Amino acid sequence: MIKNISAIEVFDSRGEPTVEAKIETEAGEFRAIVPSGASTGKHEAVELRDNEKAYFGKGVGKAVTNINLEISKMLVGKDETNQRELDQLMIDLDGTENKSRLGANAILAVSMALARAGAGSKGIPLYAYIGELAKNKRMNLPCPALNIINGGMHAANELDIQEYMILPVGAKSFKEAMRIASEIYHMLKRIIEQRYGKNATNVGDEGGFAPPLKNPEEPLRLIMKALDKTGYLDKVKIGLDIAASEFYCDGKYNFQSKELEKEELFNFYKSIIEKYPILSIEDPFEEDDFEGFSEMTRKTKGIQIVGDDLLVTNIERIKKAITMKSCNTLLLKLNQIGTVSESIEAANIAFSAGWNVMVSHRSGDSEDSFIADFAVGIGAQEIKSGAPCRSERLAKYNQLIRIENEEEKNKGKIKFYSL
Ligand code: PEP
Ligand code: MG
Repeated sequence: MIKNISAIEVFDSRGEPTVEAKIETEAGEFRAIVPSGASTGKHEAVELRDNEKAYFGKGVGKAVTNINLEISKMLVGKDETNQRELDQLMIDLDGTENKSRLGANAILAVSMALARAGAGSKGIPLYAYIGELAKNKRMNLPCPALNIINGGMHAANELDIQEYMILPVGAKSFKEAMRIASEIYHMLKRIIEQRYGKNATNVGDEGGFAPPLKNPEEPLRLIMKALDKTGYLDKVKIGLDIAASEFYCDGKYNFQSKELEKEELFNFYKSIIEKYPILSIEDPFEEDDFEGFSEMTRKTKGIQIVGDDLLVTNIERIKKAITMKSCNTLLLKLNQIGTVSESIEAANIAFSAGWNVMVSHRSGDSEDSFIADFAVGIGAQEIKSGAPCRSERLAKYNQLIRIENEEEKNKGKIKFYSL
């Protein structure tokens, strides 16, 4: 039984305030911290900010108060293992379409802490509990997609493309995938330093390098050199998050200081797909262009087309994208929708359409490793949590290493997913 629920304002990796919730039950105390995006989709659930003097408007005092008063009053005394029911109670208490009254940050912090409390009262690991909630019989350790060069809204450089990721698809275990990624990351640092000097190895919000480059192909060339020098050319594929909404304006894409038509941007994608081992492209067009995404999916056979700002982990938008064949992979961010239950439902709908699911951190994140267990529990094929650098990024990867280690020790069934 839930004995108490409370919340405090803590800080995310960018030093902005965020919400931490705490739930007390007979089994102990369970906490969760919500993350925060920078290149947010306009259809995401609402992150409630105070818009007052403190923190230049970014305080989350109102969301914290909503937990301490309304949410706490409603949930204290309830059974913490009724995740679906309690998530629904919070959705109804909020009463809006986009969780703008109580704040998706308030609701999600409680929802995540609830899942931890539920696992605690059953005495099982969080990933196993998520697996039960998801009614999932095929848990696995996801393949990591590590963002090693940062651009767009996540870096103070002129790269239009937001994320250049490596996916160690040829690894045999999660641990090996991380070794491969770490070696490539450190080799890339040397290459960037030799070519552009020490200042160019500073990192962006997600721990990837943020060199002062403009040409969108140069990061691909640098990564290829790092793959070659480390001997991992045959084990690694490349993923991109274009985050195209960030440079879309009035029907045109402001890419590389030029105004491009959709067709021209597509031709750029075609040319890099031919030259580099690209496996995955996220948000190639602006966030309402279901049609453009469909064309992209149709014309780039064998490539993962990932919907982030397009889908915003929203069940209605995912269903529309399935009908229109707009993508073949769901980027799943819990705070885009605001509860654990809805996130699980979103994943299950994507799986049943034959899609992959890539669970994702946010560019403003924290030491909370919830998404690692969540990805294993739902059986996600992939996870992206930034570079193998900076503790808010590694909190997730380290937790996956722990889960793999425990599974190996106990001769468990959960194995690394080979994409
Ligand atoms: C993304 O766009 O996929 C991402 C992780 O960035 P943000 O959290 O800024 O939306
Ligand atoms: Mg994205």
